Amino acid sequence: MRVGIIGAGIVGVATAHALLDEGHEVDLIDREGIAAGTSAGNAGWIAHLDILPLASPKVWRNLPRWAFDPLGPLAIRPAYLPALLPWLARFVAASQPSRIEASIRAIATLNGRALAAWETRLASLGLGNHLRDRGLLSVWADERAFRAAGELIERQRALGIPVETLDARSLRALEPALGPRAVAGALYPSGRHVSDPLQFTRALGEAALQRGAHLRKFEIIGVSGRGGEIAIRTSFDTLALYDRVVIATGAWSKPLAAALGDAIPLDTERGYNVTLPSGRLGLTRPVMFEGEGFVTTPLDSGDRVGGSVEFAGLEAAPNFKRVDAILGRLRRFLPEADLTGGDRWMGFRPSIPDSLPVIGTASGDPRVVYAFGHAHHGLTQAAATAELVAALIADRRPPIDLAPYSPQRFGKKH
Ligand SMILES: Cc1cc2nc3c(=O)[nH]c(=O)nc-3n(C[C@H](O)[C@H](O)[C@H](O)COP(=O)(O)OP(=O)(O)OC[C@H]3O[C@@H](n4cnc5c(N)ncnc54)[C@H](O)[C@@H]3O)c2cc1C
Repeated sequence: MRVGIIGAGIVGVATAHALLDEGHEVDLIDREGIAAGTSAGNAGWIAHLDILPLASPKVWRNLPRWAFDPLGPLAIRPAYLPALLPWLARFVAASQPSRIEASIRAIATLNGRALAAWETRLASLGLGNHLRDRGLLSVWADERAFRAAGELIERQRALGIPVETLDARSLRALEPALGPRAVAGALYPSGRHVSDPLQFTRALGEAALQRGAHLRKFEIIGVSGRGGEIAIRTSFDTLALYDRVVIATGAWSKPLAAALGDAIPLDTERGYNVTLPSGRLGLTRPVMFEGEGFVTTPLDSGDRVGGSVEFAGLEAAPNFKRVDAILGRLRRFLPEADLTGGDRWMGFRPSIPDSLPVIGTASGDPRVVYAFGHAHHGLTQAAATAELVAALIADRRPPIDLAPYSPQRFGKKH
């Protein structure tokens, strides 16, 4: 079949490979090219061990502290609040214990397939060198918060995720650059990170082109059924026809899905980072600073420091004071590090209130498959998502129940 994939971020390029495996003719269609969106600048974590939705007790516990700090880990720009209200209402609903539990189960199901899907894909392409295996480390500045994480750690272990808890001494033996503020840690040896998100996505995209996919640079403004085919309309008003279409346009997917009859409550959690020259932090593995809303990653392109969640939509200019705020908080953990300079970036996480992606067929035409909304987990879940999309395109029963990720789970209103 001829399949057009709209969006050449990590989800689109991973999907291209899964479809090429099955003998489809694949066009990767992007207004800017490969890795032009959020996939270019993320933290690079394959965080299959991260199973909590944003609407989790962890976030609600910290919310009173964060809400009054405009540069804190989670903030809403006041001017954007009215537009965000419907999303927030769903977020509050998704915070009921039973809904949190359902999200955890569905995230864990997808994440449980994530690492193996990447390992298989990268091995088949000879790109395994992009995956780094020094584990992922969480650190706490607060013994009480560390103890509160005990329940989550037990849950992770029950899912087969190895976790080594660390006291201050063993933490510092592992990462000597950490100052006395870090009092406890948890090492996830099975956590992985990639060489660099931009290089990684580009390498996968180029490998797809070498396998026969074609890159088409067009902005797509409409997708609709047209007799036996699916027509996609570009901003130049030209049409291309496909047997199947995949919408993998990340944070920009809402209007395309709306035109196909699906009112998806998609918004964006904007995230920020700065990439300092390699070695500046003195940390040898990725670190999550718990309760602080940021992580660090030793990438090939430099030491990346970033995170935070800002609700301000797709249009507002970045507020890079958020990066200064992150660095201020990092300074307390790494008293010796030189945190000056570096390249700053802001990206758009495509976020659904229940923290689950949208993977399924369009209401308006089942030949269109959605694969977007991966929020904090897009890099982690892309290869696993691609396998599910390939099953849907082939009208094959997917390996897992897709009901939790259904585009129709939101009902009529949003
Ligand atoms: C600060 C930060 C840190 C993160 N860290 C991690 C991490 O460590 N691990 C992890 O798993 N995830 C992480 N994420 C999340 C991850 O980056 C995203 O979930 C992921 O990149 C989304 O990929 P995507 O392919 O869906 O979208 P994108 O990468 O945004 O790609 C969408 C593409 O669609 C194209 N496009 C959009 N609209 C159109 C149109 N109408 N026509 C044509 N093309 C169009 C865009 O040009 C873009 O190339 C992080 C995100 C942020 C912001």
